[in-house]
Amino acid sequence: MNREPWSRLLRWYARAKRDLPWRRTRDPYRIWISEIMLQQTRVEAVLGYYQRFLERFPTVEALAVAPEPELLDAWAGLGYYRRARMVQTAARSIVEQGGFPTDYEGIRVLSGIGDYTAAAVASIAFELPHAVLDGNVARVGARLTNEARDVTRAPVRRALQALVQGWIEQTRPGERGDLNQALMELGATVCTPKSPRCLLCPISADCAARKEGVQEQRPVKRAKAPQQKLFLIVALVEKNGRLLMRQRPADEAIMPGFWELPQAMGPRFDPDCLAGLGLEVGEMQGEFRHGITTRDFRGQVHAAALRGERDPDYVWLGPSERESLPLTTITKKALRAAKIL
Ligand code: SF4
Repeated sequence: MNREPWSRLLRWYARAKRDLPWRRTRDPYRIWISEIMLQQTRVEAVLGYYQRFLERFPTVEALAVAPEPELLDAWAGLGYYRRARMVQTAARSIVEQGGFPTDYEGIRVLSGIGDYTAAAVASIAFELPHAVLDGNVARVGARLTNEARDVTRAPVRRALQALVQGWIEQTRPGERGDLNQALMELGATVCTPKSPRCLLCPISADCAARKEGVQEQRPVKRAKAPQQKLFLIVALVEKNGRLLMRQRPADEAIMPGFWELPQAMGPRFDPDCLAGLGLEVGEMQGEFRHGITTRDFRGQVHAAALRGERDPDYVWLGPSERESLPLTTITKKALRAAKIL
């Protein structure tokens, strides 16, 4: 493609882009934080967290020395807490190096930064020619070229990456960050997964899928795995206003180090499921739903009694301790469902 479509796209972006706080800065720290938060979290949801996080940790130095509970608290609600810890590890490396790395390779080796985030920070903060291929850009690319292969397959992904890299290399310094962002913005607001708004698209004349009338059938993706339905019982074991809770081990894949109520899951509600912890499940106090990627949990919160010895992993925590410690999302939902939080 010649430069002309990109010029049109850049002009459209300058006019139509959403006013987002991370678009008003070239500070690599702020751009990096926004990119990490935006991974798998919607823009609208990130806005509030982003502002609060940067008020609390306005510099990479402040983030590097933040106590872990404060960091997790500022991240709470965004999920993927492993990411928050990796962000802090990266912040410490940046401080040790004496500043934010200014080349792609230096950014890419930081903890928690993959190809996508490294390309985004390198192009937006430093105007380096690195293509960003997120889901939005892949969809735009697949439609522009009428890619009929499955875009979830690695070779097709690599071909799309090379395609977008070719586009970025046609741009001049000063346009690179904007072209990446313009492609993402086009995918997010015009070239949407369903019913793309082709009449508003600045590059519709160059779109091969539209010419063939197959834009709604692109990109081709293999069918998603069906959601697994699971049932969860969470126990409220109370003694003098305190609740029995444990800290999840540091090597857990999900929410390591967070605190949780006793709980068990299975393919159906099973009142005996907590017998292994010496707990007898009693009356139901509330219900909640919780979804994680391919799992859909139906949760019930039950009062429960301790029969026999307390499991040594569990301790009694009062209201003030529960407020100051990071709680898992399931535990928060359970406490809310039981009207304790
Ligand atoms: S013409 Fe339509 S399908 Fe093609 S890139 Fe534009 S919005 Fe997407």
